[in-house]
Amino acid sequence: MTTPLQVTRELFDDVMVPNYAPAGIIPVKGKGSRVWDQQGREYIDFAGGIAVSSLGHCHPALVKAIQQQAEQLWHLSNVMTNEPALRLAKKLVDATFAEKVYFANSGAEANEAAFKLARRWALDKFGAEKDQIISFSKSFHGRTFFTVTVGGQAAYSDGFGPKPGAVLHAEFNNLASVKALISEHTCAVVLEPIQGEGGIIPATTEFMQGVRELCNQHNALLIMDEVQTGVGRTGKLYAYMHYGVTPDILTTAKSLGGGFPIGAMLTTTDIASHLKVGTHGSTYGGNPLACAVAEAVLDTVNQPNVMAQVLSNEQLFRQQLKAINEKYQVFSEIRGQGMLLGAVLNNQYKGRAREFFLASAEQGLMALVAGVDVVRFAPSLVITPDEITAGMQRFEQAVKQVIGV
Ligand SMILES: *Cc1c(COP(=O)(O)O)cnc(C)c1O
Repeated sequence: MTTPLQVTRELFDDVMVPNYAPAGIIPVKGKGSRVWDQQGREYIDFAGGIAVSSLGHCHPALVKAIQQQAEQLWHLSNVMTNEPALRLAKKLVDATFAEKVYFANSGAEANEAAFKLARRWALDKFGAEKDQIISFSKSFHGRTFFTVTVGGQAAYSDGFGPKPGAVLHAEFNNLASVKALISEHTCAVVLEPIQGEGGIIPATTEFMQGVRELCNQHNALLIMDEVQTGVGRTGKLYAYMHYGVTPDILTTAKSLGGGFPIGAMLTTTDIASHLKVGTHGSTYGGNPLACAVAEAVLDTVNQPNVMAQVLSNEQLFRQQLKAINEKYQVFSEIRGQGMLLGAVLNNQYKGRAREFFLASAEQGLMALVAGVDVVRFAPSLVITPDEITAGMQRFEQAVKQVIGV
């Protein structure tokens, strides 16, 4: 008999590659928007696993979907197709601008597919000179070498040798900066409707419409990275639906799986036709287990009552953050939409978002940061008013702890 391994936070430092610095506690159980650690201490979850756990923890519909599919069929590879993938694809097509779907396992992979498709589309239609991708400073598109190069933070892409070329960066919400870079050499412009990792910065309607027009004028594709904003997070199924602007390619992941890894790239039939047999692929992409869970997420989230709840939850978050701010004056602005909100620290507390995050954890609240100046909240879309109020009481204690009152 071997004694069972004692799992402690110290074990992380012993056996894990040191690219993360996880918190001191180890959560072991979750239900709805509550999580418990090894010591049985309770946390309220305003983080949602970084905008992933769209229906909270262990939602009955997702537990049922995963159990049913687990007893039926887990994996085939793309040598064959499967029922859950085709049902999910049909539902995504019916609910969006898209006509075709490609499945991946993460946001980065969905973006990798989008960028490769844009390059191939341009090569086929216009030749090798049309290869430039324009993205934005502070943008985030994933951690593969191509996606991190397209992303707008050199700190994430430097130090790994030569980068993929023909990637340019403009200023977000600055149409003139796009105008200055876009040309007949541009194959695509990629943007997040709300920059997530960059600090919860929503694109203005003027900017979004202006970029669409510039893409049209220069025969460039508009790619929207909705990995963080998608699947109901902003109160519509996808954030592009707020803008009256339709992308050519859209990527979605995070909330799509509600905690199970899946990503997808959505596009039109015409553009999709350039990814011919053999041009791209993934062993797991579109596997039955992942697609069965995502189908249950989509069925549950894409309902008028859930979209309405996202908006009423946003109002409650904003009211309670405003009330905290009236007492302690820490924020200059609350920005974002739906269940993707950023409390921007004012000049007095600039650069100290991590302290608010750490104090929140001490008070039993899981929050997030987005850069050094923004405390980010990306909870379950169906978090209850009671959970919001209880979490905000803990957040108020965290604010008091940081500012020392
Ligand atoms: C999280 C995120 C990604 C990367 O997704 P992964 O699943 O971590 O690969 C890409 N784009 C945006 C906008 C994101 O927020």
